[in-house]
Amino acid sequence: MSPADSDTLAVDGGEPVRKTPFPTVSNASGRTIGAAELEAVRRVLTSGALNSTVGTETRDLEREFAAYYGVGHVVASSSGTSALHLAVGAVNPEPGDEIITTPITDAGTVLPILLQNAVPVFADVDPATGILDVDSVRRLITPRTRAIMVVHLFGAPAPVAELRALADEHGLILIEDCAQAYLTRCRPDGRLAGTIGHIGCFSLQQSKHITAGDGGLTITDDPVLARRMRLFADKAWPRDTDERTHLFLSLNYRMTELQAAVARAQLPKLEGVVRDRRTAAQQLAKTLVSLDGLLPPTDPEATSFWQFPVVVDPERAGGNAHEYARALAAEGIPASGGYLTRPLYLTPMLAQRHTYGESGYPLSAFPASLQPEYVPGLCPQAERMIAETLLVIMWNERYTDADVDDIATALTKVHRAFQRRE
Ligand SMILES: *Cc1c(COP(=O)(O)O)cnc(C)c1O
Repeated sequence: MSPADSDTLAVDGGEPVRKTPFPTVSNASGRTIGAAELEAVRRVLTSGALNSTVGTETRDLEREFAAYYGVGHVVASSSGTSALHLAVGAVNPEPGDEIITTPITDAGTVLPILLQNAVPVFADVDPATGILDVDSVRRLITPRTRAIMVVHLFGAPAPVAELRALADEHGLILIEDCAQAYLTRCRPDGRLAGTIGHIGCFSLQQSKHITAGDGGLTITDDPVLARRMRLFADKAWPRDTDERTHLFLSLNYRMTELQAAVARAQLPKLEGVVRDRRTAAQQLAKTLVSLDGLLPPTDPEATSFWQFPVVVDPERAGGNAHEYARALAAEGIPASGGYLTRPLYLTPMLAQRHTYGESGYPLSAFPASLQPEYVPGLCPQAERMIAETLLVIMWNERYTDADVDDIATALTKVHRAFQRRE
């Protein structure tokens, strides 16, 4: 192949940098499922106790995760979304109360707010990270605000020390969504994400650092919140009192013993998973230093790299995030532009108030004092990131040096070609 050939982008008919698949979280190639998980499932099936009300695995997982994170209480549940619903259930907002959150996240962050009949209020993000901007949050606090839900996006640390101070000043609960952020370290003192707010929520879904297929863990040091979360996950049935009764409205969000046993086998692997993702990420970050207009995560030492986000400056980089993603995908590199197709407030659920029947409740009617307008322009920084600047490279603990070299080679190739077309 002549040098000219290897310079032609694969989107323009050139040779792709990479022709074999990368390890992926969608199957065994990019997961750490092995003998211990097989044995865990066998143990539960052999016992015949598959439900947490009769088995021991879920309670053991809760104890082990509490020790691992150094917190007083852990409640397991069926998914990351349910882990967040437990948190909002523990806050127990009045219908129409407000919870401030981010427009760049999985829907699982926002669904529980609406399901508890509270109003999601969207603050804008820091354009360097896509994470909630503290000043934007501060401006949106009203007498009806009850909580702030912050997301450590892609495993990068959110400014939780500042948000906790803000929450305390106004008597709010700070909920940390750590679904993408196992073992993320926060400023200023390196404490673990999930332990700075009042409540931290984790996911064991297929694509996260560790998995049981689905599953959730909610952590807190507050025994009152913990008690309410435990009840919320189990039809508010106070099993510890032996009385068959239901103390408040809630659901069955229990984790199964099979999930818990698999999660227990995964937990000891978590540190290695995060270390390997971080090491590979630091290797790629070195390449980005020389690529004008492509900015790597700002705090790699503290980040657990659920994915590898790159903030693209379209002027300097010669193309926007979507053009980069398309060109990289053609080169055989798993990448996508924007993370979401639109900020969450522009999905039909919110923009068209598809909630309960035709009512639009609680977004359009009493008892909310606020009738939120979920319209384009609400969070300009978030909208610009999704439309133009946020490039996401899929990340994995099984990436070898050669895998990362291929990603770096493709990024350099695309960058050079995009700069030439100026
Ligand atoms: C995955 C995820 C969730 C939801 O978790 P599930 O286990 O899929 O329900 C919530 N928030 C964020 C930021 C996530 O990445």
